[in-house]
Amino acid sequence: MREKRFDAVGIGLNSADLLCVVERHPLFNTKGPLLEVSRQGGGQAATAMAALARLGLRTAYIGAVGDDEEGRFSLQSLRAEGVDVEGVALQPGRASQFAVILVQRGGPSAERGGRTILWRREVALRPGDVREDIVRSSRMLHVDGHNLEAELRAAEWAREEGIPVSFDAERALPGTEALVRMTDYLVASEDFPQAFTGEASLEEALRAIRRLGPRVAAATLGESGALAFDGERFHRSPAFEVEAVDTTGAGDVFHAGLIYGVLQGHPLPRTLRFANALAAMSCRALGGRAALPRLGEVEAFMRQARSYPE
Ligand code: ADP
Repeated sequence: MREKRFDAVGIGLNSADLLCVVERHPLFNTKGPLLEVSRQGGGQAATAMAALARLGLRTAYIGAVGDDEEGRFSLQSLRAEGVDVEGVALQPGRASQFAVILVQRGGPSAERGGRTILWRREVALRPGDVREDIVRSSRMLHVDGHNLEAELRAAEWAREEGIPVSFDAERALPGTEALVRMTDYLVASEDFPQAFTGEASLEEALRAIRRLGPRVAAATLGESGALAFDGERFHRSPAFEVEAVDTTGAGDVFHAGLIYGVLQGHPLPRTLRFANALAAMSCRALGGRAALPRLGEVEAFMRQARSYPE
């Protein structure tokens, strides 16, 4: 078999995130101080590739940017991690994704580290923008469902090459089902499975998603970790106990952990545990990428850390 150029390629969003820490989320028509401000690269697929690059994998990111400051910043943040960005489409005159993220530092423990995201984006990846050679020269394809037609085209190429597809499913849109049918590993945010399938319970919703094609249908559940269905049984994998400073990007980083496990050929329970560890570590600093660990650091963390009780 010919050597693949990349371990993983991610297609989807990138962002210039402005993280603003507040004591409590603001009330309408009030003023308040910002406790800390940080500018970082973000976006679901882009952050997943950055996290994999930090683990030592060869990754590429495909998405769109405008010819503005935010786009330059976002691309530079990926290059700095060693993520290949030669397949990024430049769309002059359109605004790159920019997000203001309010992160709450105080309040009850369940609210601490929680965030609200406000975003603007004019760029959009079209099917003709996707570099076929990059997709075909990867060992795994990751998509985040925000550029459905482009991602579908890429998933078709991946299928032809026998490349597994992972999907970070967040919103159910017309066309999402077609992408689910092309997916091997679907990991959704907590609300997606029931919203997408109309099933009354998360378990039934994951069963229904799996019937559409994926080998594994899973959901991340914040502090409760993750639940995955592989067609035979449900795997409940608890989250790791950390002082969560900011959960921005935790889901994106969980996907990186899942992709890592799949590429290593690890069994599903081990893969879920690794993904939970990686995501928990990313919650320990402000922003989606400030606390991305190297492989040895995740392994050390997993040896010492405690999981939340199930
Ligand atoms: P999303 O925001 O994408 O829906 P989640 O909030 O479900 O993502 O978080 C994704 C993963 O991040 C979880 O499955 C878990 O592994 C980890 N995680 C999230 N919040 C915490 C937390 N407070 N403590 C430890 N791990 C967390």
